[in-house]
Amino acid sequence: MSQLLDIPVDEPDWTIEQSAELYRVDSWGAPYFFINPQGRVAASTGAQAASPIDVVAVVEEARRRGVDFPALIRFQDVLRAQVRRLNRAFHAAIEAAGYENVYRGVYPIKVNQLHEVVDEILDAGREFGLGLECGSKAELIAALPHLQDDETLLICNGVKDHTMLGLMIAAQRLGKNVIPVVEKPKEFVDLKAQSWSKGVVPNLGVRIRLGAAGSGRWADSSGPHSKFGLSVAELVQLVDELELGGLTDRLKLLHCHLGSQIADIQALKQAGREAAQIYASLVKRGVGLRYLDVGGGLGVNYDKAGAEEEIDAGVNYSMQEYANAVVVGIKEVCDGQSVPVPTIITESGRAITAHHSVLIVPVLGTQTREALGTETVLPADAHESTRGLFERARLTTHPADPNEALEAFHEAKRRHDETRTLFALGYLSLQERAIADRAFWSLCRVLLGILEAADLEPPPAEQGELEGLLTDQILCDFSVFQSMLDHWAIGQPFPIMPIDRLDQRPAQRGLLVDLTCDSDGKVTHYVSARPDKSFLPVRPFDSVGPECIGFFLMGAYEDIMGDAHNLFGRVSEIHVYADDDEEENFWIEKIIPGTAVQEMLAQVQYFPNDLHRRMSEIVRAKIQDGVVRPTVGMGILEQYMACLQQSTYCDPGTFGQDAS
Ligand code: PLP
Repeated sequence: MSQLLDIPVDEPDWTIEQSAELYRVDSWGAPYFFINPQGRVAASTGAQAASPIDVVAVVEEARRRGVDFPALIRFQDVLRAQVRRLNRAFHAAIEAAGYENVYRGVYPIKVNQLHEVVDEILDAGREFGLGLECGSKAELIAALPHLQDDETLLICNGVKDHTMLGLMIAAQRLGKNVIPVVEKPKEFVDLKAQSWSKGVVPNLGVRIRLGAAGSGRWADSSGPHSKFGLSVAELVQLVDELELGGLTDRLKLLHCHLGSQIADIQALKQAGREAAQIYASLVKRGVGLRYLDVGGGLGVNYDKAGAEEEIDAGVNYSMQEYANAVVVGIKEVCDGQSVPVPTIITESGRAITAHHSVLIVPVLGTQTREALGTETVLPADAHESTRGLFERARLTTHPADPNEALEAFHEAKRRHDETRTLFALGYLSLQERAIADRAFWSLCRVLLGILEAADLEPPPAEQGELEGLLTDQILCDFSVFQSMLDHWAIGQPFPIMPIDRLDQRPAQRGLLVDLTCDSDGKVTHYVSARPDKSFLPVRPFDSVGPECIGFFLMGAYEDIMGDAHNLFGRVSEIHVYADDDEEENFWIEKIIPGTAVQEMLAQVQYFPNDLHRRMSEIVRAKIQDGVVRPTVGMGILEQYMACLQQSTYCDPGTFGQDAS
């Protein structure tokens, strides 16, 4: 007996717990982000004795203060909390293993160089002796004045020119703990030329290319063919030279880096042991090493995939397991070689910064597959394919049998194809083609509802096809190239979800598209518990108020890699601290406006004076020709010049308004 199903498929009951599961909030958000009982995203920022902050309240307050969106909310307390967590994890590992030396973290500023971010991390890390790492001349120049005392480490990686080496030597002369890490044999030659001849022999470090390779997307940063570091043969040659000069006590630090976001703890364990063996061998040879720096790589769970899933942007270990693996691995090797254990350095950047910033992106509009309206009348001479689609879509009840739904879908596709062919050949009017399209989409929606309700395992291929056909485009006020370059470049997923009304059923499938005139300007992979990650399940966006979507874990790398595609600039920033004495548990310390049009244009050599001169020449000529009256012409010129001060993004309040 075939069951009957009412349309539309109506399941009003939906809970915040279901939303949390759907968007996998626990897997990427813990311990900082969750959904509060009001169905909004909240941030528990790790500040002591502070209640969670309602993210929507921050957005509303920022709007009241005139912030242009999109905007990045920085939860500064999260940075502090991550610094504490990392240091405490290493202290616990050291204590548990009976490791007879200390841990010193350094923050690699390449991960996020924003001054406030670096300052906050340094301040939070003061009690743990946290230092900095730089990888270029500009980073060195930025970092050097921030060293808090003469013990604070500044590790200098990256390719170093003469000027950069000279500055590091000068800093050492000031008594600063700045360590140039030799990455290329040529740097050692230059270092000698600049210092030995002048009787100043600096402390130095050396980066080695390990045999062990990393795991995950950035695995190429390590292994024997990596572009960074010295081979073992080059290392031995460097040590020979130091020995000849009686200078082996100057080599203080051994460095390796497996690549960012190490996915598998085994890779880290293997590399740590290899580095420790090299360390122990050199110490036994009489080299004065005291630091073993295992680089960055401590990963973050962006999207922890199930075993059978293709994309895995997660890690298979916790922060504590990472610390234990580093400490125990080094200790076992050094104990085995009867060598004192080194001061351990890590250069964790992603793990410290990723969680602290959330990009808030306004929704500008949704492009849906149009449904058949109740008022639509089928023309009397409609083709039989249009009629078939129309009549089936107009049924008020549909058989709930999934096999019948599949059969109906196959037939609907045939009819729909036929209407398109007939239209292309000139046998169908534009109006009839529109009716056929609407009827087809309406029917697809019903059939998908039936298949979803049947919950077939595995779901039929047609279900995926229907999901794809019915995915709506959601136009968002941002640029993928400016705000999430890693998504475009290497397909990295970022957790994305609406920030409010999460107690409503996300019955719609969305594909987020950006403002750029580039078909790649879209988000193609979403973090969700659904097997199909090519769409974001969302509740239908209505026009009740400004709608926003939150992009999470944006704090590492994305902030600084942005590319100015279509001249979209940096987004505004809101720096937030938790505080229970404030009305809404938070206060905004600083607002940094996004890049204005004028600043973006200056980067590509368009300057306001020149633009004004050219535009006014055009306007004056038109006034002279009588095309516009002088007041109108001058008004247009003012209108043009005022645009230069504006944000490069859309003003959601005026988007789609009549410009006249
Ligand atoms: N150290 C070096 C030398 C790096 O190249 C990097 C980035 O790849 C890091 C540290 C930071 O790594 P992560 O952000 O994974 O901690």
